[in-house]
Amino acid sequence: MTNRMTQTILITGGSRGIGRAAAIMCGKRGWSVGVNYAGNELAAQETVALVEKAGGKAVAIRGDVSVEADVIAMFAATEKAFGTIAGVVNNAGIVAPGMALAEMSAERLARMFNVNVLGAYLVAREAARRMGTDRGGKGGSLVNLSSAAARLGSPNEYVDYAGSKGAIDTMTIGLSKELGPRGIRVNAIRPGLIDTEIHASGGAPDRAFRLATQVPLGRPGTADEVAAMILFLLGEEGSYLNGAIIDVTGGR
Ligand code: NAP
Repeated sequence: MTNRMTQTILITGGSRGIGRAAAIMCGKRGWSVGVNYAGNELAAQETVALVEKAGGKAVAIRGDVSVEADVIAMFAATEKAFGTIAGVVNNAGIVAPGMALAEMSAERLARMFNVNVLGAYLVAREAARRMGTDRGGKGGSLVNLSSAAARLGSPNEYVDYAGSKGAIDTMTIGLSKELGPRGIRVNAIRPGLIDTEIHASGGAPDRAFRLATQVPLGRPGTADEVAAMILFLLGEEGSYLNGAIIDVTGGR
């Protein structure tokens, strides 16, 4: 059973929120985790300690996913610490304050697409280069974090973010076909309203709870509830899933 063996996993944006929850669950399986973060070193070190407490190993790696050299370096640092990477969680992502497109600056749009799209593509490319069996790799699993916004569109709030996540869905479809034959399963998760700090970073800390009336289950989801699906896709349970885009939204 793959789940019993030590696996090396890289999680971008692993210091907080959904990425941290996934890192801790990897730790519970005894896996080793590269915990990438952008700037919050304290949070990254806390995550490392929590993974180790759970029974795994972890290393914190600073790097911006929108910078090519940083992406290459985070893969290298993970493999240096723990050996060949078997799974990548393409999780780092940002939102910006809610507003209509007419109000958005070009700088905001560039940052949104640089981190959420260019960053995700660079991470996926490095996963393809290192894990692809056609390049001497051992194959593996790539899990992309999209969003329910990709199908809701987020009008008057985050059409930029929603579009960036639409790109993740399309990338997932293409790469599942491109990389499946090369030993890499590629799937995406579309979380709905999840209670993490991402809403505060968009200027609306109470957003997940405020909008919970739109959720058939009547509440926001937790980072753990998304992480459980990440682990399913990383592990042996997901061995025949490829090209799936799975909503974890409470039905929203
Ligand atoms: P979060 O709590 O805001 O955490 C974001 C994480 O990404 C942090 O670890 C942060 O590092 C890291 N990060 C941000 N920019 C980065 C960059 N340029 N390079 C590397 N790391 C970067 O976010 P979350 O709610 O867990 O969201 C995780 C993913 O799920 C995102 O892709 C998000 O779009 C998606 N998602 C979330 C929700 C939700 O409701 N929460 C819903 C749908 C989809 P630092 O700690 O160093 O800042």
